[in-house]
Amino acid sequence: MAITPLMPVYARCEVRPVRGEGVYLYGEGGERYLDFASGIAVNLLGHRHPHLVEAIQKQAATLMHVSNLYGSPQGEGFARRLCDLTFADTVFFTNSGAEAVECAIKTARRYHHAKGNAHKHDLITFSNAFHGRTMATISATNQEKLRDGFAPLLPGFKVVEFDDLEAALAAVDDNTAGFLIEPVQGEGGIRPASNAFIAGLRAACDEKDLMLLFDEVQCGMGRTGTLFAYEQYGVAPDIMAVAKGIGGGFPLGACLATEKAASGMVIGTHGSTYGGNPLAMAAGEAVLDVVANDEFLANVRRIGERLRSALQQMIPNHDHLFESVRGTGLMLGVKMKTDSRAFVNYLRGHGLLTVAAGDNVMRVLPPLVIDEAHVREFADALSKAAAEYEVPAAAA
Ligand SMILES: *Cc1c(COP(=O)(O)O)cnc(C)c1O
Repeated sequence: MAITPLMPVYARCEVRPVRGEGVYLYGEGGERYLDFASGIAVNLLGHRHPHLVEAIQKQAATLMHVSNLYGSPQGEGFARRLCDLTFADTVFFTNSGAEAVECAIKTARRYHHAKGNAHKHDLITFSNAFHGRTMATISATNQEKLRDGFAPLLPGFKVVEFDDLEAALAAVDDNTAGFLIEPVQGEGGIRPASNAFIAGLRAACDEKDLMLLFDEVQCGMGRTGTLFAYEQYGVAPDIMAVAKGIGGGFPLGACLATEKAASGMVIGTHGSTYGGNPLAMAAGEAVLDVVANDEFLANVRRIGERLRSALQQMIPNHDHLFESVRGTGLMLGVKMKTDSRAFVNYLRGHGLLTVAAGDNVMRVLPPLVIDEAHVREFADALSKAAAEYEVPAAAA
């Protein structure tokens, strides 16, 4: 048999981590990596954070899983905290980002259904979006590489140009349920939507009774320097999908909604076997204990500025490789003049972990707990590696 035991859907690289400590990962042979990828914006507190580890250990030794058929003091406690900290009135817990987006889509459709407008089932989504790998979430993007070979896709999605308000408004018709958008596109290349765009979508939703769905799976949970990115736009969604950082490495997602938006999500309409189990709730609470703190978030903004300016200063010295720096907080992207995937791969060989993204962007997504010394270490190592990098002939 030629196939590998792990279904070969990833081009797995030679980095094979077996242990983590703070901002570092260690490979099988003891190789050390500075982890500015964070499991793709997941390990907010770095690796082996004592508060998170202790919370998980304690809960695992107490109660790991029960069915959602039973009352959940753990879920109620965590959901209450999330509601108090956000626009939301209610939360459905999932195990992943795609499931959180699925719940958001279902909530939006059910809102209109419950109002007797079952024909309002279409969501307007945006070019180069990434919402996950389920059938609904690949149907919600125009990225061909995610969709190829999986037809028939689900109907009910209309993709228009990202950050083009006119195109978004022109796409609204009598079947429109709302808009689904990443306020800051992650996988698409660290692209923040403009203030005017987000404000325009909100205004259209208010005027036409549509649902505004934010996918903050990547940009949420402190990543951009506020607990959620929408706070910086001064615009609240009706429904929001969260995952990645929310469990700090424990699989956890959440769909948050206002009471109005969730009006169709009544008993029996949705469910999950694992979603919101006590172990996941303990992990989520422990992450929130650290991240939902003004001082902590102010530090994310401060250190994010330091990292951004360090990257910016590097551009003139390597202007054959780097074009510009994008993003906010610790959700940064370096737009490259060469294939970002090849460069990210090269950096792995030099002990630096970053993540490639669309539009030839290298994503820089360190744990939110980095300090100045980590920024200097990253900048020095990146600068040295960039100076030695030979652009592959095909990608030059
Ligand atoms: C990663 C991601 C998802 C999917 O999350 P999974 O946990 O992989 O299902 C959805 N939306 C955005 C914006 C993401 O970055």
